[in-house]
Formats: sequence, structure tokens, C-alpha cells
Amino acid sequence: MSSPNAEDLTEFQKRAEIQFKAVLEGIDQVATAHEKKTQDLVKAENESAWDRPVRPKDKSRSKDDKVEERAAAIIRAIREYERVVTFGNRPSEALPLENDRDMGGQYLTNKDRIDNESKLYQIARIVPKGALLHLHFNAELHPEILLVRARKMKNMYIRSIIPITKNEHLGETEMIFNICDPTTVDPGVNIFSASYPKLMDQENPKAESYLKTTWMPWSDFQMEFERKFPGEYQDEEPETFQAGQPQHCGQTKPTKLRPAENWLRSKMVLSLDEAYGPTQTVNGVWARFNQATRAFKGLLNYESVYKEYIGDAIDRMIEENVMYAELRPMLLDKFIPADSGIHEKRIKNHEQMRLIVDGMKEKRKMLAEQYGNDDKFPFGLKIIYCTPRSIPIPLMQKEMRDCIALKMEFPDLICGFDLVGAEDRPNHIGFYRKELVTFQETCKKLKLDIPFMFHAGETLLDTGGSSDPENSNLYDAVALESKRIGHGYALMKHTHLIEKFKKTKTSKGICIELCPISNELLHLCRNVKEHPYPELLAAGIPCTVNSDNPSLFSNSMSHEFYQIMVGDPTMSFWSWKQLAKWSIEYSCLNTKEQERGQEILSRGWKEFCQTVVRDYGPLMEDEASVNINPYRAEASYSVRDDKTHPVIEKAISDMKMAAKKSPGQEHADVVKIEREKARLWMESLASSDVLKRKP
Ligand SMILES: [Zn+2]
Repeated sequence: MSSPNAEDLTEFQKRAEIQFKAVLEGIDQVATAHEKKTQDLVKAENESAWDRPVRPKDKSRSKDDKVEERAAAIIRAIREYERVVTFGNRPSEALPLENDRDMGGQYLTNKDRIDNESKLYQIARIVPKGALLHLHFNAELHPEILLVRARKMKNMYIRSIIPITKNEHLGETEMIFNICDPTTVDPGVNIFSASYPKLMDQENPKAESYLKTTWMPWSDFQMEFERKFPGEYQDEEPETFQAGQPQHCGQTKPTKLRPAENWLRSKMVLSLDEAYGPTQTVNGVWARFNQATRAFKGLLNYESVYKEYIGDAIDRMIEENVMYAELRPMLLDKFIPADSGIHEKRIKNHEQMRLIVDGMKEKRKMLAEQYGNDDKFPFGLKIIYCTPRSIPIPLMQKEMRDCIALKMEFPDLICGFDLVGAEDRPNHIGFYRKELVTFQETCKKLKLDIPFMFHAGETLLDTGGSSDPENSNLYDAVALESKRIGHGYALMKHTHLIEKFKKTKTSKGICIELCPISNELLHLCRNVKEHPYPELLAAGIPCTVNSDNPSLFSNSMSHEFYQIMVGDPTMSFWSWKQLAKWSIEYSCLNTKEQERGQEILSRGWKEFCQTVVRDYGPLMEDEASVNINPYRAEASYSVRDDKTHPVIEKAISDMKMAAKKSPGQEHADVVKIEREKARLWMESLASSDVLKRKP
């Protein structure tokens, strides 16, 4: 387009032009002043950043600080490389490729790429994570492990809510496991027969007559399943066994599940469709989640697995670089079955606690023998007593008395009390106000310390299961002096409450146990980029990172740390470090233990930084650069759809342009030369080098 003729301009346009040009000529000084203002704002924001306390001082020249800063630069460069190349996020007019994904997009959609192609995730796996403060007891081990364990249990039985006679019943029904005494159930029960009783037809689902006729031996069920649905659910190799990688030290060999086990597994783990289906609703996904929890319960809650579980769970945490955990079991059922299923031999709550303590002792002894000290898991586990928020008042009173009694018997084990369940359903915390205050006063009288650690604000409605916003659980959680709260997703709506959570010079604040993947799968946000954790942190609220229900959500602490890093560009190495430090500071460990925990953590961080610099530093342009060498990265990452880094793309296009401009002349093929250099560099690496190893 040619510029308009001076004669075409209106009087107004002419005046505007004259004035604008005149001002522009002398504006440099004003612009510089504004630039300074912007820089000052950025600087001030950096200085007041929530993770400032763990960043090196500005002019620090200490060797450790330099290594930390290098590790931070490498992690950032790797994240940004993966954003552009591994995920293919390039804003432009062009439609994305079929294989492009959003970095920080839907977790389950991305999981495969994260697990198999991301070096940032590899790094997230080795980050020292401190403590895991929000984990439901049944949910640390993957279902495959429990299903394989159940093979040995001859008294393992299964029950369906409807007879399974057609393919569609496989989707409709809900299944529950239990250990039964064979003398108390009818022989020959067949879930696949049309005469199998339906749960909805029962007047009393707990009646002995109903129970007698519904439990089918799990081994019979599996055989019958294959007869009824031949060839189905054969090939679904569970992800945790893929590539033959053991998922925790306790697991020896990869195992393939049988068809009925594969089907059951699909009932326990939230699928992509169930989490993200276009017509899925909050209530729908919660109902599905509760169903999965019920299916899990019987697979874990029996004598021998309960015993082994503690050791396995600790192994899994060590593998994830977690040094301590506070677990949340549900103890509303006052017993778990003995392996024999015999009623009189049932294991009572306090005997369960004994199994946990013994399991812990045994494991710690083994660790001390293996490593020469107990630094890997120095403080064992603690238990937060959980009870559903849906139960009637008298039952709640009993739960509280039971919790207090367990605390008296196991003072070092029981560390908190919590109410759990979907917050869009009754009751809100305030419904039990009288009981909760009585609980606090009774504890005072008995000189017991059982702080509240409520699930609160894990909801978008935030009305405590009513239609009234004043019933938000966040109010009662604060009023009742909750030490920490689970989730806190809805907190940013509460101008006044936010202040109570902030850490200040005079107040420790209230810590939020973040569970980003759980929140996404339970429909609070579409992906981690929409999660309010950056805002909560920016407000000065201490937070920790947690996995909530790994067995149902196919996540882990490493995945959560990964998500935190890709969920917002302001997150950095320092953010990881501050979150890990807070997890010790806001745990229920005593002062001395916390000091030791922080000391072990600092040592871990030092080692971690050195590992990152040593193993991933060679991907960088040079030792001082903050940029990745795209050719080396290309050689080290698995290549997808010929997707290359913009630097390489530009080099290719520059060469083409040069060839066009001067056709006869020889031009060095820069890209070819650099690629060859990168190939030779890869060849020079030892086969054990992490950059050579595909994840
Ligand atoms: Zn939870």
C-alpha cells in the first residue's frame, strides 16, 4: 500500500501528524524514564517473590550458589525447548500438527509424552521433594500390584451390583472385593447368571441372606469372565508395567494382567474419557471417583497386604525422593478382614495401627542396613485420621472418640483429624461445629495435640453442599484453626480469608496442600495452566505439592512437580525448592526432626544441582549460555514429525535464501555440519549417559 497523499489528509489528520512527529522527536528521555519504571516494577516483584528466601543473594559468588544458578538456567532452557519442540507450541497462523500437544495441557492426554519424551520429567523424578502431606492411604500403590497380590489370596471374593449377562453390563456395574470366610457364603455363586441378585432389589443390602448369595470367589470369577467374554480385555498392558520398568523397589518382574484383572483395573483408574469426555460433569466424575475408591478398598484392606503395604509405600516414596509422609486412612470400618476371613480374627483399628508401626520399624531397619543410615526415610510415617463428612452426628462423635483413643495409644503416629468427601454434598464442616469444638477441648484436657487438617475449598461452588456461600468449608476451617488445609482451590474468592493463610513475620499462616492433577481430573480446572496455584503462592500463602490418589489418577509426586513447573512460566528451580522446604516446615514433625529434615533436604538439593549440571549441562550452548544447543538437543531427544527448533529452521531458510540470491556460488551447509557435529558428540557419550538414554 502506498502512503496517502498529503492532499488526501483531512485537517484533523494533518494536525495529528504534525503534533505526533514533533513529540516523537524529543521523546527519548521520557521513554527511558518509563523503561526504568518498568524495570523497577520487575525488580520489586522479583524481590518480593514468594520463593525469594531460597534464591541466592544477588551478588553471591559462592560456589554452591553458582551451581544452583546453573541448574536453574538448565531446567528453564529444557522446559522452553520442550515447549517449542517436544510439544510443538508455536503461536502462528498455521494450524498445529495432529501430533502437537499443549505443554501444561490435559494431564492424561499428555502423560505418554511426559513419561516417554520429556527430560524435564526425568529431572522432576530426581528432585528432592521433602514431605508428602496429602495422600489417601489406599491410594499410593498402583492397582496392578494389588491385583497381582490378590492372586495368592484364596479367600478373595468379588461382588457385583447387577448380574453380568451381557457386554454392556461390564460398563454399568460396580464391583467390590472382600476377603470372606468360605463357610459364610453360598458355594456356586455366579455373577454371570441371570438369577444373581440385584442390589437395587434388596430391602436391606447388609442383610446376611443377601450377602450370602452375592460373593463369588475371585478365582472362579476370572475363569468365568474369560469363558463369557472370550478374547476381550486381553491386550491391555497396564502402563506401569510397560517397558518392563519396575515402578518401585518392591516389585520384581513385570507382569501381564489377565483379562478379568484388566477389566477391573479399568474400573479403578480414571480413563481419559471419564475425566475429559465432552458430557462429563463434576458430579459425574466424583461419582466415578467414589466408585473406583470402593473397588480399591477390598483389594488393600486385609491382613497380609496391609502389612506389606507400608514397606511397599515407603519404597515407592524413596524412589520418588520423598523423605516423609502423613497418610490419610479412612477408619470408619472398625475392622479389616484377616486373611482367613474368619469373623473372630478380624483386625481392629488399633491393631491396624500396630501393623503400620511394625511395618515402619521393619522397613527402617532394612533401610539402615542397606544404606548405612536412615537419611532416605528418617522419620517414618504419620497418620491423619479421616472420616466422611456425610455421616450422622452420633457416628461423628464416635469417630472423634476413636481418633482420640488411637492418639493416646499411638501418640507419635496419629497427627491430625480430617473430614473428607465431595464438598458439593452435605455436610459442611460447621454442621459438626459442636462436636469439633468438643474434640478440641477434650484434646486439651487430655493434653493431646491433634490439629485439624481439613479438606476445604476443593470445589467451584464452595457452598459446603448447600446453596449458601456462607457455608463454605473455608470459613470453618479457619475458625477452627486448621493447621493446613487440603486443596484450598476456592480460596482466591475470599478477600478476607486469604489474609489468614498468608505467612507473615508474626504468623505462620495456614499451609495449603496443593493437589493439581487431582483438581484437574475432578473438574475444578481443565488443565494445570488454569489452576490458581501461582496466584495462591503470589499472595504469600505457604503451599506444598501432593499426589492425593495416585492409584486412581495415574500420577505420582514426580508428575505433580513436573506439572507445577510447566503450569506457569514464572515457576522455576527456586519454586521447587521453596515448596519442598515448606513441606517439612508445615509437617507434624517436631522441631528437632524438622531441623534434621531441612538439613537432609539441603544436602539433597546440593547433590541434585550437581547432577543436573553434570548430566544435562552438555545440552547447553556453552557453560555460560542460558540457551540450549538445538542441534545437540535434536540428537538427544526423540524426533517427532521432523519438528525442529526455530534456530535450525531459520538456518535452513537462510541457506535457501542465500542460494536463491547467488545461485552459482558454493554455500556451506551449516545445518548439515552442525548436525554431524551433534551426531559425533552423541557417539562420544557413554551408553549410560542420561542424554543418550531415551526415557
Ligand atoms: Zn484428598
